[in-house]
Amino acid sequence: MAKFIFVTGGVTSSLGKGIIAASLAKLLQSRGLKVTIQKFDPYINVDPGTLNPYEHGECYVTDDGAETDLDLGHYERFLSIPTSQANNVTTGRIYQTVINKEREGAYLGKTVQVVPHITDEIKRRMKLLGDTGEFDIVITELGGTVGDIESLPFVEAVRQMQWELPEEDCIVVHLTLIPYLSAAKELKTKPTQHSVRLLSQEGVHPNVIVCRTEHPLNQEIKRKIALFCNVKPDAVIEAMDAGTIYEVPLKMLQEGLDVIVLKKLQINGYAAPDLTKWVTFLDKLSNATQRVNIGLIGKYVELQDAYKSILEAFIHAGAINHCKVNIIDIHSESIQKENVQEQLKGLNGLLVAPGFGARGVEGKIEAVKYARENNLPFFGICLGMQMAVIEFARNVLGWKDAHSTEMDAQTTHPVIALMEEQKNIVNKGGTMRLGAYPCQLEADSLAHRIYGNAEITERHRHRWEFNNNYINNFIDAGLIPSGKNVSNDLVEIVELKSHPFFIGVQYHPELKSTVENPHPIFVQFVKAAMENSSLAPIESNISEDALV
Ligand code: GLN
Repeated sequence: MAKFIFVTGGVTSSLGKGIIAASLAKLLQSRGLKVTIQKFDPYINVDPGTLNPYEHGECYVTDDGAETDLDLGHYERFLSIPTSQANNVTTGRIYQTVINKEREGAYLGKTVQVVPHITDEIKRRMKLLGDTGEFDIVITELGGTVGDIESLPFVEAVRQMQWELPEEDCIVVHLTLIPYLSAAKELKTKPTQHSVRLLSQEGVHPNVIVCRTEHPLNQEIKRKIALFCNVKPDAVIEAMDAGTIYEVPLKMLQEGLDVIVLKKLQINGYAAPDLTKWVTFLDKLSNATQRVNIGLIGKYVELQDAYKSILEAFIHAGAINHCKVNIIDIHSESIQKENVQEQLKGLNGLLVAPGFGARGVEGKIEAVKYARENNLPFFGICLGMQMAVIEFARNVLGWKDAHSTEMDAQTTHPVIALMEEQKNIVNKGGTMRLGAYPCQLEADSLAHRIYGNAEITERHRHRWEFNNNYINNFIDAGLIPSGKNVSNDLVEIVELKSHPFFIGVQYHPELKSTVENPHPIFVQFVKAAMENSSLAPIESNISEDALV
């Protein structure tokens, strides 16, 4: 029978609940426990798949095709175990289930209410992963901040779970902020006291309080928080800002977060933490011997969360190569034929990002052309791969109006076209080609060398595809389809034989990169960029402000 840990947030959003939840999970996993993490989000969208990155950052996709919150990416990157549909639940999903049941007549004769019907459905889903018998501990992160109107049913469900289960089987970890007032030169505990009081008013009393802070908490402050929030001093955990999110598990270990949690859950006889691989990764990360500049061409570059998994995959790939990867954000709308050279000079590699719609695509195509013609290592992901195909069609095959029908339905050369299975789909939510599909790699290709394997599976999120009507023209001119889905002949990878490193993939490799298993394309792309350092010297006009 699994035990449950709920992670709530108080005072403000963006405190890093996902990272704290993932760090706690990592520590428990490192002590030999089987742990999973799930996220319950209080918004009404059924999933974040229809949300703009400006609203919600990257949409993370699981093997089984769920479009989810980006925190699931952190869970996978920290734990190296896949998440699934069950790991992300929204208010919309809960209500949809309850309303469908009501229409089927499941509640015939009854008034359907938030309590008990909505809260029962929340609890059913909170327990689902625990019921599989695969996990000792299920950590549930509640999205939003305590006190929000929309998170009330979730907090009520947690209250009921605590009431139903033995005390040692269900605990609450509350993450709050201890602000520092520089004028008074003081850390302030009042917002934390208020947020714990709010949570208590809703019937939930936290067992552990994790305090985000920019300055260390002395014993006196910890005692004060403990006293006013009614927990023992050892249940007040300091969470100082860290240089990288990957240091947080070690900071939490130092603070004893895992030990207090295990004590509250009455789990005894656990092993000492084995974090060898994690520590090796951190060592490499902080002791890079080389540096490369990789240009990230996208239309959401001003927003860090929009390309979260790509940025993290570069951190993993950089560490294993002992290399600091500087990501240079370049807005695709800012690139034109006249300034492309100026914009991209000094880069050692170029990544063209995924995306939807017409905005910025001409800049992306210019960037691909520059990379192709200047032997600059190139990596295109999803829309980035499609842009590479269009660029080649226009500038090598000479089809000047070649395009994707996503952007130009009238083009005479639709080299990227809507997938057959997508043609009759009207609804937007959850209807793309989603999740993991197998892909067969050509012998003697760059892709095959990178993966060291002929059979791979990767995750997808797209509607358009490489148009096979033109495949022979591309092959004859040198753009090779080196990876295909065998069952429907879909081109998944294109590469240029005559280039040192030029690869475009229709899928999202960034979603599978973890600290312990960096993704091979990212690893080899960084390596290619390192080898390219002599071609494009690092002393460039690129400012260090953009460093990740
Ligand atoms: N808009 C493109 C498609 O749907 C690419 C999607 C993406 O980059 N994720 O095919």
